[in-house]
Amino acid sequence: MALQPLPLVANDAQPIVAKKPPVDPSTLAHKDLRRGPFWQKIPAYRGIDEAQFLDHAWQAKSSITKVSKLVETIQELVPAGFIEDLEAGMKRAPMSVRVSPYLVSLIDWEHPYEDPERTQFFPVASRLLADHPKLGLDSLHEQADAPVPGLTHRYADKALFLPLDTCPVYCRFCTRSYAIGLDTDEVEKVHLRPNDERWKRAYQYIASRPELEDIVISGGDAYQLRAQHIEEIGEALLAIPNVRRMRFATKGPAVMPMKILTDEPWLDALTRIVEKGRKLHKDVVLHTHFNNAAEITGITEAAMGKLFERGIVVRNQSVLIRGVNDSVEEMTLLVKRLGHVNVHPYYVYVHDMVSGVEDLRTSVDTAIHIEKNVRGSTAGFNTPTFVVDAPGGGGKRDAHSYEYYDRDTGISVFAAPSVKPGQLFMYFDPMHQLSTHQQRRWTDAREQQVMVEDALSKARLRAR
Ligand code: SF4
Repeated sequence: MALQPLPLVANDAQPIVAKKPPVDPSTLAHKDLRRGPFWQKIPAYRGIDEAQFLDHAWQAKSSITKVSKLVETIQELVPAGFIEDLEAGMKRAPMSVRVSPYLVSLIDWEHPYEDPERTQFFPVASRLLADHPKLGLDSLHEQADAPVPGLTHRYADKALFLPLDTCPVYCRFCTRSYAIGLDTDEVEKVHLRPNDERWKRAYQYIASRPELEDIVISGGDAYQLRAQHIEEIGEALLAIPNVRRMRFATKGPAVMPMKILTDEPWLDALTRIVEKGRKLHKDVVLHTHFNNAAEITGITEAAMGKLFERGIVVRNQSVLIRGVNDSVEEMTLLVKRLGHVNVHPYYVYVHDMVSGVEDLRTSVDTAIHIEKNVRGSTAGFNTPTFVVDAPGGGGKRDAHSYEYYDRDTGISVFAAPSVKPGQLFMYFDPMHQLSTHQQRRWTDAREQQVMVEDALSKARLRAR
């Protein structure tokens, strides 16, 4: 819908002369949110009214976990061969499938191969690519930095607490595919179930380390925590004197925003912890994970508005994903739409080096190019930093801050002096973005060693 500019009239009725040409309506597309009963185009949801669609319990209960249920839901909408392709893809995927009716309704099932939501949540065999030889599960080495199962202490003043291992959705690209969701044909998971004893050991460790000021409560996903658990965890952490900041991390607002509108006990519990934190001068916020502008609808706007009214700050961390947000246009739209619904775009991560999703990765060069073009399109505080979460446990590094980057071999080398001084960390661009000659080199173990040693020695010369 094109928005009409208001006529410019000054107080003294003299026309105001604009210094810029009339705005291109396409630059206002971030305000144009999907509204109305859009879900009713899906055959199984034709009779679902707004009250039922907004019911978070119905969304959770009706989530798609099997191909047969997807077929029942979308029926004849998809092109021939797609379902077989999906079945074959699911057999090879590291993550199980769980997709809410909300997300199912956002997908253009007549063109599922190009759809950004299908791309993120439903694997299809025909699009899978062979893993880069340097890929692996738990590429961030979270388990190696965990003093207690489910508590990673890597940065000086911050810890990552994983109270549970389930999410309202399972993302194909999950960094924690080693632990999150059900076992798949490909991966037997490390389980992190809610467990009082394990949680208490985590609190004890946090209390024993005066340098720990900032705790991320992730998972899994804080949406899956019962209201009572939000309060228990919140109270326990707020009671630790050294804890100054907490973030509840959830993908929920992107995949099931109606929970904010209809799960009052959960939102009230979160609000109480945020308010208690404020009285103690401790910062409690929500971190979420939108990847594509289509995920932000009128329902999201209402949900984020409710959080805003309650004074709950929401920040967003996106993953840069091929076919989802790896263009300047799409990323700019996402960033501006997030700002429009009062969500701060905080980080964009270059896709982690996770097995089984090579088709989703992009290069460090792509991230740098997009960042350059997005910066300046909106206020600086609403512009995300593009980072590489350095494989091997180096932590988040600004994508521009590499010590050395060889765009031909796709190797970038990062240092992390405040996290792991003296060490170097490498990121490897996906092979499909390299020349045929370089791709061939990566198939030869000796050549791999030559490329890696060359990159490391050049990085050592430059590192300061
Ligand atoms: S919501 Fe987060 S933790 Fe859960 S599957 Fe997706 S990326 Fe992984």
